[in-house]
Amino acid sequence: MSATTTPASQKSRRPTAWQLLMNNRLAAAGFYIIAALVVLVVAAPILPIDNPDTIDLAGRLQPILSDGHLLGTDHLGRDILARLIWGSRVSLAVGLSASLIAAFFGSLIGLVAGYAGGRADNIMMRGIDMLMAFPYILLALAIVAVLGPGLMNALYAIAVVNIPFFARNIRGITVGLAHREFVDAARLSGKSHTSIVLTEILPNVLPIIVITMSTTVGWMILETAGLSFLGLGAQPPQADLGSMLGEGRSLLFTAPSVSIIPGVMVFIIVMSINLLGDGVRDALDPRLRAGALNRPLPVTRIDRADRSETSAAGKGAALSVENLQTGFESTQGTMPAVKGISFAVQKGECLGLIGESGSGKSVTALSLLGLVASPPGVITGGSVAIDGRDIFSMHDTEIASYRGSRVAYIFQDPLTTLHPLFTVGEQVAEAVRAHQQVSRNEAHAKAVALLDTVRIPDPAKRAAAYPHELSGGQRQRVGIAMALANDPDIIIADEPTTALDVTVQAEILRLLQALRQERGLALLFITHDFGVVAEICDRVAVMRHGEIVETGKTADILGNPQHPYTQRLIACVPRLGQGKAFLEGLRQLPKVEGV
Ligand code: ADP
Ligand code: MG
Repeated sequence: MSATTTPASQKSRRPTAWQLLMNNRLAAAGFYIIAALVVLVVAAPILPIDNPDTIDLAGRLQPILSDGHLLGTDHLGRDILARLIWGSRVSLAVGLSASLIAAFFGSLIGLVAGYAGGRADNIMMRGIDMLMAFPYILLALAIVAVLGPGLMNALYAIAVVNIPFFARNIRGITVGLAHREFVDAARLSGKSHTSIVLTEILPNVLPIIVITMSTTVGWMILETAGLSFLGLGAQPPQADLGSMLGEGRSLLFTAPSVSIIPGVMVFIIVMSINLLGDGVRDALDPRLRAGALNRPLPVTRIDRADRSETSAAGKGAALSVENLQTGFESTQGTMPAVKGISFAVQKGECLGLIGESGSGKSVTALSLLGLVASPPGVITGGSVAIDGRDIFSMHDTEIASYRGSRVAYIFQDPLTTLHPLFTVGEQVAEAVRAHQQVSRNEAHAKAVALLDTVRIPDPAKRAAAYPHELSGGQRQRVGIAMALANDPDIIIADEPTTALDVTVQAEILRLLQALRQERGLALLFITHDFGVVAEICDRVAVMRHGEIVETGKTADILGNPQHPYTQRLIACVPRLGQGKAFLEGLRQLPKVEGV
């Protein structure tokens, strides 16, 4: 086996959330500042600092760096350094608790409303809308006015005014998830609503909750400080950053350091929390993590340890593949999907590539022109030659110029490959214009002619139809028309008939067969159905677990399969009138490991 098992030293290319966070320099700086501050304020009781509340009227308003008072004293002679550390402790604790409370209740409301939908959703969200109708600081003031001033009441007020923020965010995401297939499946399996919300939905919204929290903590610390500044939060003599600012305000000109020092501290805390929060958001966002925003490379990453040359026999072939190896990068190293396969397709010939689902057929087909999405795909070895020219040593743009012109693809599910918002005529014309310098009208005329070639009735009229207005068989014909648009030499058909019923399948096969003979196309036909292979292929390669286990003329392989896996595949094609004997026959075949 020529599988490329990657050494342990070559670790995953997809970084963990923590690595992503630390790679972001600003976020890392924010993290270290906050971590240092947290250590400092947690250690406040054991630090060699004065009691923050000890009044010493004789030593009031001492300047910075005065004896025994590193940051000076305030208007009551209290040590500013001690008050700063204890005050930061209070501010951080209140801000963090407020955001935890807001996150808990807000997310709960969002989850329930989004999952329940209907009237429950309506009532909850209108309640949230009412909260949001007041300017939030006024609302916080009103709540404190009702509850009375005090640190705990300020905390509740800040938490309450921030609940809508979480509720709306989480509800929006939950609504999107509540009707996804995996939730329906959980419902069908008999799970209760509570357990669906907790085990299916919550894990999907958890990153969003953390992200929302990390971006609001700083804000809540500011709001708490704001309430204390107005005298509604921390009550004297207790220090928090807001109340220190408030007390220092009247001395701004005589002793500016009294208010500037807590001001700078608020700035540092909020700034570093926000930097960290942004970093956390970038690192945790599931779309960013899944690489949705990394655009795949134009050509699969090629990292060939071995560049098997095209053999002399392969040189004359339309398409020749030598020891091709393709893998996918994962946290455990590179997982091979295609493990060194070789085959050749001559002009005018049809080679069938057959194998069970997951055996690596599609990855092989996509590798030929570097179309495997990368990351995570990587071509780890071998070579592909088209008309004797090595594809993987070409420049990206040259490889791209082969796609759709010299080599065309037909895929399995035509509904997903066609754009739903353009007419099929426009899409075929677009395929023409991608490689040919023709006017819009000429392209359209060509498109209609192509639709006629693939035997779509009344092509001029059908060209104006949207994909959903066509039947499955017709859509697949449109796919074939697009493949033919630039007179390719090679067509790679990846299970083009699997989604179709048998009669339509037969028609499509006949069409492909006719086109091949008319145009001398080389056809690589991928399928898992030996019945289809028997119908159109000259030769067959049987693929299993990323390797070709047997190859030869279709008639030979069908008549005298050597590999037990091939025997089983052939036996799986039912014949009319066989009845139960078919299943019995399957049972008596030799066992193949893994089948
Ligand atoms: P099939 O023969 O049914 O067309 P594929 O060629 O699609 O099978 O897949 C072959 C193997 O490659 C499978 O084991 C599959 O899990 C793996 N694979 C395919 N695409 C990816 C991907 N994007 N990331 C990781 N593994 C993949
Ligand atoms: Mg496939």
